[in-house]
Amino acid sequence: MPDPVLPDSPLPLLRADVSTLPAYVPGRAARDEFVDKLSSNENPYPPLPSVIAAVETWLGRLNRYPDPSAAELIAELSGRLGVPADHLVLGTGSVGITQHLVAAAAGPGDEVVFAWRSFEAYPLLAWAAGATSVQVPLRDETHDLDALADAVTDRTRLIFVCNPNNPTGTAVRRAELERFLNRIPPHILIVIDEAYREFVVDAAEDIPDGIDLYRDRPNVAVLRTFSKAYGLAALRVGYAVAHPRVTAALRACSVPLGVSGPAQAAALASLRATEELRERVADLVAERDRVSAALRAEGYEVPDSHANFVWLRLGPRTAYFADACEAAGLMVRPFAEEGVRITIGTPDANDRLLKTAAHWNH
Ligand SMILES: *Cc1c(COP(=O)(O)O)cnc(C)c1O
Repeated sequence: MPDPVLPDSPLPLLRADVSTLPAYVPGRAARDEFVDKLSSNENPYPPLPSVIAAVETWLGRLNRYPDPSAAELIAELSGRLGVPADHLVLGTGSVGITQHLVAAAAGPGDEVVFAWRSFEAYPLLAWAAGATSVQVPLRDETHDLDALADAVTDRTRLIFVCNPNNPTGTAVRRAELERFLNRIPPHILIVIDEAYREFVVDAAEDIPDGIDLYRDRPNVAVLRTFSKAYGLAALRVGYAVAHPRVTAALRACSVPLGVSGPAQAAALASLRATEELRERVADLVAERDRVSAALRAEGYEVPDSHANFVWLRLGPRTAYFADACEAAGLMVRPFAEEGVRITIGTPDANDRLLKTAAHWNH
């Protein structure tokens, strides 16, 4: 008998390729409080009291819309970064902005070029825009900028450079990135994703700040987020810095009022607490270097990380390592048959990770 509510109802017409979409695999939610979640590159420290207080001012007025222009937060960012306000766009996490960038720049028949492995959202968002992903293998766990430039065709509309790269933690240097930017035709938008920029601390390494590079390059956009170093992952707020042609397009593509009032308030309070947060970041960086050295001492190959995580290319042994961690109450992020990304956590969680890794390798 036909369904009485939906008489021989055809299914909604969706794009034929929807079922081919590879699902985004987020770090799993921690099962319980006894598990240390080292799988999503979150900051292990809770928000600062000043940030909690800023969010609390919103609790009694959640019936109100946020400031649609986010004027206070934009003004603060503009002053701190030394960029005009109209070069800034906020979004629901930098992933939200990434989606709008792809939608603004690329459609069916267009190509979006990025290194692989890199951030998992890139292929998904290229797909969502109907564009074609062009993946350029990493070389020595690092962006192969020459190969990326060689991959450009007359269909290329967007190139991502994730610096430092998720999940390998490696970073490209100023001279090679400038040479790359100079090679790319000016009509192609280049997005420098700096989600982990605050963890880049060694000036001697000469890892470029994207905000220096975008200034005289109208085809460069820089992405930053409050989710990682600033520890506001739950609130979903990030921003792009780019020239007005790009920021205007981003605003046109954005969901109006996307960044909530509590998120704006927390981001603002975090910027004003930058000094306190810098200490936490310094602690995480010191732990990253300690964990890297200890893993190497146990015989692991660990690429130099400039982010808040380390990468172990374990190939077919990947799942076994992740299982051993899980048994020890630690969630890491396995990429099947490739490797494991381990977020730097509290010293205690890192100690347990090192103990598990040492035991596993013997
Ligand atoms: C975590 C991450 C982001 C941003 O995440 P949001 O929470 O959406 O701001 C962006 N790019 C990379 C490479 C990341 O790892």
